[in-house]
Amino acid sequence: MRGTRWSLEDRQKAWNLRRSGKTLEQIGLALNRSVASVNTCLQAMKQEHQSRKRPCLCCRRLFHSAGAHNRLCPLCARRSISPYAP
Ligand SMILES: [Zn+2]
Repeated sequence: MRGTRWSLEDRQKAWNLRRSGKTLEQIGLALNRSVASVNTCLQAMKQEHQSRKRPCLCCRRLFHSAGAHNRLCPLCARRSISPYAP
């Protein structure tokens, strides 16, 4: 299985196993992949998860959010910081 691309299904499985508290070794065994491969996949998924696009609460434009706390696009966030700007 070395070098095999991760299918969406396997990625989801690895993600769910990790969330249920399994170690990288256990996930690797379950999916027949190396620990390094599992680790790389989960890191990539974590980044995607954290920086996914969200609609701005203010202008509704999609933007890359840094996380659940980040709900305003950069333009609106700046506007809310300086309320006297035009
Ligand atoms: Zn906005």
